Amino acid sequence: EKRNPNELEFHQAVKEVLDSLIPVLVKNPTYIKQAVLERMVEPERLITFRVPWVDDQGNVKVNRGFRVQFNSAIGPYKGGLRFHPSVNTSIIKFLGFEQILKNSLTGQPIGGGKGGSDFDPKGKSDLEIMRFCQSFMTELSKHIGPDIDVPAGDIGVGAREIGYMFGQYKKLRGAYEAGVLTGKGIGYGGSLGRKEATGYGTVYFVDEMLKDQGLSFNDSTVVVSGSGNVSIYAMEKAMQLGAKVVACSDSSGYIYDPNGIDLDTIKQLKEVENKRIYDYVKIHPEASFKVGCSGIWSIPCDIALPCATQNELDKEAAESLISNGVKAIGEGANMPSTQEAIDAFLENDILFAPAKAANAGGVAVSALEMAQNSARLAWTQEEVDSKLQDIMKDIYQKSINASKEYEAEGNLVIGANIAGFVKVADAMIEHGVI
Ligand code: NDP
Repeated sequence: EKRNPNELEFHQAVKEVLDSLIPVLVKNPTYIKQAVLERMVEPERLITFRVPWVDDQGNVKVNRGFRVQFNSAIGPYKGGLRFHPSVNTSIIKFLGFEQILKNSLTGQPIGGGKGGSDFDPKGKSDLEIMRFCQSFMTELSKHIGPDIDVPAGDIGVGAREIGYMFGQYKKLRGAYEAGVLTGKGIGYGGSLGRKEATGYGTVYFVDEMLKDQGLSFNDSTVVVSGSGNVSIYAMEKAMQLGAKVVACSDSSGYIYDPNGIDLDTIKQLKEVENKRIYDYVKIHPEASFKVGCSGIWSIPCDIALPCATQNELDKEAAESLISNGVKAIGEGANMPSTQEAIDAFLENDILFAPAKAANAGGVAVSALEMAQNSARLAWTQEEVDSKLQDIMKDIYQKSINASKEYEAEGNLVIGANIAGFVKVADAMIEHGVI
């Protein structure tokens, strides 16, 4: 805390990991002697830069850009870019740190990185978004490349932003390096199945966890927070597996329909028309809208999938879910549950799928996009989806096995942290002190 003052989210993410690694350190003192943890919590590089751009009225605006290149022990840095006014060093470092272990869990050769800007895309015109993305990439392009660092999307960065950034990178480089970004459009090197991968992957992971206890999504009632990329495809897959999704949200509030919400309307509002979730009740008056997002966790459900943002589910929300009989939690967003909420779930034997395992499907398919770009070919949606399912099953197995090996059977927080850590730590030791 002295070394990284005021970086609350980063401290939170690191503390959770360090607490679960104690048994590994006891068993393998080499990790202590080699100062693996001290090295792992210090980014290899943290870049911040000025992003000047011109709005539609001709005013010059300035935002701050970030890229943390956290760890390259097992592959080039890999992680998304977030455009949101809350972005700061702490947010980028917590996300980058989580990404190291998450990427390791996927079994793909990718290191950990993350980036973004405090730019707020809400209410900006298409041309303003384009000018911002071009200015952002003008600086970022000096630090990335298909074998160096491969950014992707995250909150506020979807296919449109990736397209503008890819165009600018290509122009600056004078070369077509398809593998420099993932989440690209299908027509120019994107992978089928990438858009759906994080949400689908979260549900595949939770499904494995449920099956282990003789449970399933079929006939269950599900609440999913957010209504962005992760949320929409988590809802879609849960519905395909027979669940009834009764609520979702955005940062203004949430909609609720005990008979189930209509996903086509949500896709139309969010993916096509760029509207707010309260517009849903204008089309479906049978549903209700409530202001404020945390109230969504007071809705009774069997499975809760927080898919919006960090610390959106606190102790009070966890207690409300538990008293309403929730059976399982699957984190689609990064660090959506506070530590107190996680403790409450684990103490009450609620099945808990932590983010770095449950939402790793997105980055896993990004790694498959890189593989397709390197081979200059494209796989079918079915091929990608089947690989994604295998990867999510494998992450579940690795995590559950590590929890057993270290006498915390069934605790996937501990299992995922350990399974992700060991591979990176061993590679760091093999590379020597660098
Ligand atoms: P999007 O920008 O597509 O959607 C984010 C959603 O969350 C929106 O509905 C947004 O509402 C809502 N939201 C954002 N901030 C808040 C807040 N403070 N309170 C309540 N709701 C909020 O982002 P993604 O779906 O891509 O990302 C969601 C989460 O999943 C993030 O934690 C991200 O890091 C994580 N993730 C994403 C991956 C991906 O592949 N996209 C991969 C792995 C993790 P509004 O529109 O009102 O802001």
